[in-house]
Amino acid sequence: MNQKKIGLYIHIPFCKKKCYYCDFPSYSGMDDYWEAYIDALASELIQKADEFQNPHVETVFIGGGTPSLIPAMCISKILDTVYSHYTVSTDCECTIECNPGTLTGDKLKAYKDHGVNRLSIGLQACQDEILKKLGRIHTCEDFLFSLELARKHEFDNINADIIFSIPYQTFAHWQETISLIISLDLAHVSCYSLLIEDNTVYGKMKKEGIIKEADDELDRKMYHYAVDSLNAAGLYQYEISNFAKPHLRCRHNMNYWRRGEYLGVGAGAHSHYNKRRFANISDISMYIKGVNSRSLILSEDSYLSRENELEESIFLGLRLNEGIDLNKLSKEFGIDLERKNKKKLEHLTLQGFVEQEGSIVKLTKKGMDLANAIIVELI
Ligand code: SF4
Repeated sequence: MNQKKIGLYIHIPFCKKKCYYCDFPSYSGMDDYWEAYIDALASELIQKADEFQNPHVETVFIGGGTPSLIPAMCISKILDTVYSHYTVSTDCECTIECNPGTLTGDKLKAYKDHGVNRLSIGLQACQDEILKKLGRIHTCEDFLFSLELARKHEFDNINADIIFSIPYQTFAHWQETISLIISLDLAHVSCYSLLIEDNTVYGKMKKEGIIKEADDELDRKMYHYAVDSLNAAGLYQYEISNFAKPHLRCRHNMNYWRRGEYLGVGAGAHSHYNKRRFANISDISMYIKGVNSRSLILSEDSYLSRENELEESIFLGLRLNEGIDLNKLSKEFGIDLERKNKKKLEHLTLQGFVEQEGSIVKLTKKGMDLANAIIVELI
Protein backbone atom coordinates (compact mmCIF):
# COMPACT_ATOMS: atom_id res chain seq x y z
CA MET A 1 0.00 0.00 0.00
CA ASN A 2 1.25 3.49 -0.88
CA GLN A 3 1.84 5.59 2.21
CA LYS A 4 0.14 9.00 2.20
CA LYS A 5 2.47 12.00 2.10
CA ILE A 6 1.67 14.56 4.75
CA GLY A 7 2.86 17.62 6.65
CA LEU A 8 2.93 17.28 10.42
CA TYR A 9 2.05 20.29 12.57
CA ILE A 10 2.90 20.19 16.28
CA HIS A 11 1.45 22.95 18.47
CA ILE A 12 3.22 24.30 21.56
CA PRO A 13 0.70 26.71 23.10
CA PHE A 14 2.94 28.36 25.72
CA CYS A 15 4.32 31.90 25.72
CA LYS A 16 6.27 33.86 28.29
CA LYS A 17 3.77 36.71 28.04
CA LYS A 18 0.73 37.27 25.85
CA CYS A 19 1.36 39.92 23.19
CA TYR A 20 -1.33 42.63 23.10
CA TYR A 21 -2.44 41.84 19.53
CA CYS A 22 -2.36 38.05 19.74
CA ASP A 23 -5.47 35.93 19.30
CA PHE A 24 -3.63 32.62 18.66
CA PRO A 25 -4.28 29.70 20.99
CA SER A 26 -1.31 30.49 23.26
CA TYR A 27 -1.12 30.97 27.02
CA SER A 28 1.29 32.46 29.51
CA GLY A 29 1.78 31.41 33.17
CA MET A 30 1.04 27.74 32.50
CA ASP A 31 4.54 26.40 33.16
CA ASP A 32 3.10 23.72 35.49
CA TYR A 33 1.43 22.10 32.48
CA TRP A 34 4.52 21.80 30.28
CA GLU A 35 5.53 18.29 31.30
CA ALA A 36 2.04 16.79 31.15
CA TYR A 37 1.42 18.56 27.84
CA ILE A 38 4.57 17.17 26.21
CA ASP A 39 3.66 13.67 27.43
CA ALA A 40 0.18 14.11 25.93
CA LEU A 41 1.67 15.37 22.64
CA ALA A 42 3.91 12.30 22.43
CA SER A 43 0.88 10.05 23.12
CA GLU A 44 -1.22 11.83 20.51
CA LEU A 45 1.58 11.46 17.95
CA ILE A 46 1.63 7.70 18.58
CA GLN A 47 -2.18 7.45 18.50
CA LYS A 48 -2.34 9.37 15.20
CA ALA A 49 0.45 7.26 13.63
CA ASP A 50 -1.68 4.17 14.35
CA GLU A 51 -5.01 5.74 13.37
CA PHE A 52 -3.69 7.08 10.05
CA GLN A 53 -1.45 4.08 9.25
CA ASN A 54 1.97 5.57 9.57
CA PRO A 55 1.81 8.29 6.91
CA HIS A 56 4.98 9.51 5.20
CA VAL A 57 6.04 12.83 6.72
CA GLU A 58 7.48 15.33 4.24
CA THR A 59 7.53 18.38 6.53
CA VAL A 60 7.34 19.00 10.28
CA PHE A 61 6.36 22.39 11.69
CA ILE A 62 6.62 22.98 15.43
CA GLY A 63 4.59 26.15 15.92
CA GLY A 64 3.03 28.11 18.72
CA GLY A 65 2.92 29.86 20.98
CA THR A 66 6.64 29.94 21.54
CA PRO A 67 8.17 26.47 21.07
CA SER A 68 11.63 27.87 21.92
CA LEU A 69 10.36 28.75 25.41
CA ILE A 70 10.15 25.18 26.69
CA PRO A 71 13.26 23.12 27.59
CA ALA A 72 15.19 21.61 24.69
CA MET A 73 14.60 18.08 26.02
CA CYS A 74 10.83 18.57 25.46
CA ILE A 75 11.43 19.28 21.76
CA SER A 76 13.88 16.34 21.59
CA LYS A 77 11.24 14.05 23.09
CA ILE A 78 8.64 15.16 20.55
CA LEU A 79 10.97 14.72 17.58
CA ASP A 80 12.23 11.35 18.85
CA THR A 81 8.57 10.23 18.96
CA VAL A 82 8.04 11.44 15.40
CA TYR A 83 11.12 9.59 14.12
CA SER A 84 10.22 6.36 15.88
CA HIS A 85 6.54 6.23 14.86
CA TYR A 86 6.39 7.82 11.40
CA THR A 87 8.28 7.35 8.17
CA VAL A 88 10.08 10.66 7.79
CA SER A 89 11.40 11.75 4.41
CA THR A 90 15.22 12.00 4.27
CA ASP A 91 14.91 15.59 3.03
CA CYS A 92 12.15 16.50 5.49
CA GLU A 93 11.81 20.26 6.07
CA CYS A 94 11.67 20.60 9.85
CA THR A 95 10.84 24.06 11.19
CA ILE A 96 10.60 25.39 14.72
CA GLU A 97 9.15 28.78 15.64
CA CYS A 98 11.34 30.77 18.01
CA ASN A 99 11.12 34.06 19.78
CA PRO A 100 14.08 36.27 20.66
CA GLY A 101 14.72 36.23 24.38
CA THR A 102 14.04 32.48 24.62
CA LEU A 103 16.73 30.95 22.37
CA THR A 104 19.99 29.59 23.77
CA GLY A 105 22.98 27.80 22.26
CA ASP A 106 22.01 24.56 24.03
CA LYS A 107 18.50 24.67 22.58
CA LEU A 108 19.82 25.32 19.07
CA LYS A 109 22.27 22.45 19.39
CA ALA A 110 19.49 20.09 20.49
CA TYR A 111 17.28 21.24 17.58
CA LYS A 112 20.10 20.64 15.12
CA ASP A 113 20.85 17.21 16.60
CA HIS A 114 17.17 16.29 16.15
CA GLY A 115 16.88 17.21 12.50
CA VAL A 116 15.50 20.77 12.74
CA ASN A 117 16.76 22.53 9.60
CA ARG A 118 14.62 25.67 9.47
CA LEU A 119 13.96 28.40 12.05
CA SER A 120 11.19 30.96 12.05
CA ILE A 121 11.98 33.89 14.33
CA GLY A 122 9.50 36.61 15.32
CA LEU A 123 10.91 40.10 14.95
CA GLN A 124 7.73 42.07 14.04
CA ALA A 125 9.40 45.52 14.08
CA CYS A 126 12.89 46.86 14.60
CA GLN A 127 12.02 49.77 16.90
CA ASP A 128 12.11 48.87 20.59
CA GLU A 129 9.37 51.39 21.41
CA ILE A 130 7.02 49.64 18.96
CA LEU A 131 7.96 46.17 20.25
CA LYS A 132 7.13 47.40 23.75
CA LYS A 133 3.77 48.75 22.60
CA LEU A 134 3.01 45.39 20.96
CA GLY A 135 3.67 43.69 24.31
CA ARG A 136 6.62 41.73 22.89
CA ILE A 137 9.16 40.40 25.39
CA HIS A 138 12.26 41.28 23.35
CA THR A 139 14.21 44.12 21.81
CA CYS A 140 15.61 44.34 18.27
CA GLU A 141 19.05 43.66 19.75
CA ASP A 142 17.69 40.38 21.20
CA PHE A 143 16.53 39.40 17.70
CA LEU A 144 19.94 40.15 16.22
CA PHE A 145 21.61 38.15 18.98
CA SER A 146 19.28 35.15 18.34
CA LEU A 147 19.98 35.34 14.62
CA GLU A 148 23.74 35.41 15.16
CA LEU A 149 23.49 32.48 17.58
CA ALA A 150 21.39 30.51 15.09
CA ARG A 151 23.94 31.11 12.35
CA LYS A 152 26.77 30.07 14.67
CA HIS A 153 24.91 26.79 15.05
CA GLU A 154 24.81 26.46 11.26
CA PHE A 155 21.17 27.28 10.66
CA ASP A 156 20.96 29.05 7.31
CA ASN A 157 17.31 28.52 6.36
CA ILE A 158 15.81 31.22 8.56
CA ASN A 159 12.53 33.12 8.33
CA ALA A 160 11.70 36.37 10.11
CA ASP A 161 8.12 37.49 10.78
CA ILE A 162 7.41 41.20 10.49
CA ILE A 163 4.16 43.18 10.85
CA PHE A 164 2.90 46.40 9.31
CA SER A 165 -0.07 48.67 10.04
CA ILE A 166 0.72 48.59 13.73
CA PRO A 167 -0.77 51.50 15.69
CA TYR A 168 2.00 54.08 16.32
CA GLN A 169 4.04 52.70 13.37
CA THR A 170 4.89 55.30 10.72
CA PHE A 171 5.89 54.65 7.13
CA ALA A 172 9.48 55.61 8.08
CA HIS A 173 9.44 52.96 10.84
CA TRP A 174 8.34 50.37 8.27
CA GLN A 175 11.05 51.41 5.81
CA GLU A 176 13.59 50.99 8.59
CA THR A 177 12.33 47.48 9.42
CA ILE A 178 12.41 46.43 5.75
CA SER A 179 15.95 47.82 5.32
CA LEU A 180 17.16 45.91 8.35
CA ILE A 181 15.53 42.69 7.12
CA ILE A 182 17.15 43.06 3.69
CA SER A 183 20.57 43.75 5.22
CA LEU A 184 20.36 40.46 7.17
CA ASP A 185 20.29 38.29 4.04
CA LEU A 186 17.56 35.96 5.33
CA ALA A 187 16.17 33.02 3.37
CA HIS A 188 12.52 33.90 3.97
CA VAL A 189 10.31 36.73 5.24
CA SER A 190 6.65 36.61 6.31
CA CYS A 191 5.04 39.98 6.30
CA TYR A 192 1.51 40.47 7.70
CA SER A 193 -0.81 43.42 8.10
CA LEU A 194 -1.96 43.71 11.72
CA LEU A 195 -5.63 43.02 12.23
CA ILE A 196 -6.99 44.10 15.56
CA GLU A 197 -9.12 41.25 16.91
CA ASP A 198 -11.83 41.90 19.52
CA ASN A 199 -10.59 39.29 22.02
CA THR A 200 -7.16 40.88 22.53
CA VAL A 201 -5.75 43.72 24.63
CA TYR A 202 -5.57 45.75 21.41
CA GLY A 203 -9.21 44.91 20.71
CA LYS A 204 -10.18 46.39 24.09
CA MET A 205 -7.98 49.45 23.51
CA LYS A 206 -9.59 49.96 20.11
CA LYS A 207 -13.06 49.74 21.65
CA GLU A 208 -12.06 52.33 24.23
CA GLY A 209 -10.72 54.63 21.49
CA ILE A 210 -7.09 54.42 22.75
CA ILE A 211 -5.78 53.00 19.47
CA LYS A 212 -7.15 52.68 15.97
CA GLU A 213 -6.30 50.62 12.92
CA ALA A 214 -3.99 52.14 10.30
CA ASP A 215 -5.96 53.68 7.44
CA ASP A 216 -6.26 51.68 4.23
CA GLU A 217 -4.06 54.03 2.24
CA LEU A 218 -1.11 53.69 4.65
CA ASP A 219 -1.69 49.94 4.93
CA ARG A 220 -1.44 49.52 1.13
CA LYS A 221 1.52 51.91 0.86
CA MET A 222 3.40 49.79 3.44
CA TYR A 223 2.45 46.54 1.71
CA HIS A 224 3.53 47.74 -1.74
CA TYR A 225 6.78 49.07 -0.32
CA ALA A 226 7.52 45.66 1.22
CA VAL A 227 6.63 43.76 -1.98
CA ASP A 228 8.77 46.02 -4.20
CA SER A 229 11.74 46.21 -1.83
CA LEU A 230 11.86 42.51 -0.95
CA ASN A 231 11.46 41.42 -4.58
CA ALA A 232 14.23 43.80 -5.63
CA ALA A 233 16.47 42.30 -2.93
CA GLY A 234 15.97 38.75 -4.25
CA LEU A 235 13.34 37.71 -1.72
CA TYR A 236 10.63 36.83 -4.22
CA GLN A 237 6.97 37.00 -3.34
CA TYR A 238 5.38 33.57 -3.73
CA GLU A 239 2.25 34.10 -1.64
CA ILE A 240 0.32 37.22 -0.64
CA SER A 241 2.32 37.55 2.61
CA ASN A 242 5.40 35.41 2.02
CA PHE A 243 8.75 36.04 0.33
CA ALA A 244 11.72 33.73 -0.17
CA LYS A 245 15.02 33.30 -1.92
CA PRO A 246 14.79 30.87 -4.86
CA HIS A 247 14.09 27.28 -3.72
CA LEU A 248 13.56 28.33 -0.11
CA ARG A 249 9.78 28.71 -0.01
CA CYS A 250 8.25 27.17 3.11
CA ARG A 251 7.33 23.67 1.91
CA HIS A 252 5.10 23.07 4.91
CA ASN A 253 2.93 26.10 4.15
CA MET A 254 2.98 25.40 0.40
CA ASN A 255 1.32 22.10 1.23
CA TYR A 256 -1.51 23.99 3.04
CA TRP A 257 -2.07 26.35 0.16
CA ARG A 258 -2.03 23.55 -2.38
CA ARG A 259 -4.60 21.70 -0.29
CA GLY A 260 -2.24 18.87 0.60
CA GLU A 261 -2.90 16.64 3.55
CA TYR A 262 -1.57 17.34 7.01
CA LEU A 263 -2.06 16.14 10.55
CA GLY A 264 -2.00 18.53 13.50
CA VAL A 265 -1.23 17.43 17.04
CA GLY A 266 -1.62 19.47 20.18
CA ALA A 267 -4.27 21.73 21.68
CA GLY A 268 -6.16 23.60 18.95
CA ALA A 269 -4.22 21.92 16.11
CA HIS A 270 -6.01 21.51 12.76
CA SER A 271 -5.82 18.57 10.35
CA HIS A 272 -6.80 17.92 6.73
CA TYR A 273 -6.85 14.29 5.80
CA ASN A 274 -8.97 12.11 3.52
CA LYS A 275 -11.25 15.01 2.53
CA ARG A 276 -11.94 15.71 6.18
CA ARG A 277 -11.04 18.84 8.16
CA PHE A 278 -10.89 18.53 11.93
CA ALA A 279 -9.38 20.33 14.92
CA ASN A 280 -8.50 19.48 18.51
CA ILE A 281 -9.99 21.44 21.40
CA SER A 282 -7.75 24.31 22.46
CA ASP A 283 -8.25 24.08 26.25
CA ILE A 284 -4.93 22.66 27.52
CA SER A 285 -6.23 20.78 30.53
CA MET A 286 -9.10 19.21 28.57
CA TYR A 287 -6.68 18.32 25.78
CA ILE A 288 -4.32 16.50 28.18
CA LYS A 289 -7.21 14.63 29.83
CA GLY A 290 -8.69 13.73 26.45
CA VAL A 291 -5.43 12.30 25.09
CA ASN A 292 -4.68 10.39 28.27
CA SER A 293 -8.14 8.77 28.30
CA ARG A 294 -7.95 8.19 24.52
CA SER A 295 -11.09 10.29 24.08
CA LEU A 296 -9.67 13.50 22.66
CA ILE A 297 -12.48 15.92 21.91
CA LEU A 298 -12.55 17.65 18.56
CA SER A 299 -13.79 21.22 18.31
CA GLU A 300 -14.43 20.85 14.56
CA ASP A 301 -14.96 17.87 12.34
CA SER A 302 -16.43 17.93 8.86
CA TYR A 303 -16.16 16.15 5.53
CA LEU A 304 -15.69 18.39 2.53
CA SER A 305 -18.19 18.28 -0.28
CA ARG A 306 -16.89 18.51 -3.87
CA GLU A 307 -18.13 22.10 -3.90
CA ASN A 308 -16.16 22.90 -0.70
CA GLU A 309 -13.05 21.36 -2.20
CA LEU A 310 -13.31 23.39 -5.37
CA GLU A 311 -13.91 26.60 -3.40
CA GLU A 312 -10.86 25.87 -1.26
CA SER A 313 -8.73 25.18 -4.34
CA ILE A 314 -9.62 28.57 -5.78
CA PHE A 315 -9.43 30.41 -2.47
CA LEU A 316 -6.04 28.99 -1.45
CA GLY A 317 -4.55 28.72 -4.95
CA LEU A 318 -5.12 32.38 -5.77
CA ARG A 319 -3.14 33.41 -2.70
CA LEU A 320 -0.10 31.96 -4.47
CA ASN A 321 1.82 33.76 -7.19
CA GLU A 322 1.69 30.56 -9.25
CA GLY A 323 -2.12 30.99 -9.36
CA ILE A 324 -4.60 28.26 -10.31
CA ASP A 325 -4.69 26.04 -13.35
CA LEU A 326 -8.25 26.01 -14.74
CA ASN A 327 -7.60 22.91 -16.91
CA LYS A 328 -6.27 20.93 -13.99
CA LEU A 329 -9.17 21.96 -11.73
CA SER A 330 -11.72 21.29 -14.49
CA LYS A 331 -10.39 17.74 -14.87
CA GLU A 332 -10.30 17.17 -11.14
CA PHE A 333 -13.84 18.44 -10.52
CA GLY A 334 -15.49 17.56 -13.80
CA ILE A 335 -16.66 21.15 -14.50
CA ASP A 336 -15.61 23.38 -17.37
CA LEU A 337 -14.38 26.23 -15.17
CA GLU A 338 -13.13 28.33 -18.07
CA ARG A 339 -16.60 28.38 -19.61
CA LYS A 340 -18.39 28.77 -16.30
CA ASN A 341 -16.27 31.79 -15.28
CA LYS A 342 -15.67 33.28 -18.75
CA LYS A 343 -17.62 36.52 -18.21
CA LYS A 344 -16.33 37.07 -14.68
CA LEU A 345 -12.73 36.45 -15.75
CA GLU A 346 -13.02 38.81 -18.71
CA HIS A 347 -14.43 41.49 -16.44
CA LEU A 348 -11.74 41.02 -13.75
CA THR A 349 -9.00 40.98 -16.41
CA LEU A 350 -10.30 44.21 -17.94
CA GLN A 351 -10.27 45.84 -14.51
CA GLY A 352 -6.65 44.68 -14.04
CA PHE A 353 -7.35 42.41 -11.06
CA VAL A 354 -6.41 39.08 -12.64
CA GLU A 355 -4.24 37.95 -15.52
CA GLN A 356 -4.64 34.79 -17.55
CA GLU A 357 -1.99 32.95 -19.49
CA GLY A 358 -3.40 29.86 -21.16
CA SER A 359 -5.25 28.03 -18.42
CA ILE A 360 -3.32 29.68 -15.56
CA VAL A 361 -5.15 32.44 -13.67
CA LYS A 362 -3.30 34.69 -11.21
CA LEU A 363 -4.06 37.78 -9.19
CA THR A 364 -2.21 40.88 -10.37
CA LYS A 365 -0.51 43.23 -7.93
CA LYS A 366 -3.70 45.32 -7.96
CA GLY A 367 -5.76 42.14 -7.45
CA MET A 368 -3.73 41.15 -4.38
CA ASP A 369 -4.95 44.32 -2.63
CA LEU A 370 -8.53 43.10 -2.96
CA ALA A 371 -7.76 39.41 -2.90
CA ASN A 372 -10.64 38.31 -0.69
CA ALA A 373 -13.30 40.20 -2.64
CA ILE A 374 -11.99 38.92 -5.99
CA ILE A 375 -11.74 35.34 -4.79
CA VAL A 376 -15.31 35.48 -3.49
CA GLU A 377 -16.42 36.64 -6.93
CA LEU A 378 -14.79 33.61 -8.52
CA ILE A 379 -16.13 30.91 -6.19
S1 SF4 B 1 4.75 35.26 21.02
FE1 SF4 B 1 3.40 34.83 19.27
S2 SF4 B 1 1.94 33.30 19.99
FE2 SF4 B 1 2.97 34.16 21.81
S3 SF4 B 1 1.58 35.75 22.50
FE3 SF4 B 1 3.10 36.72 21.16
S4 SF4 B 1 2.15 36.68 19.09
FE4 SF4 B 1 1.02 35.25 20.40
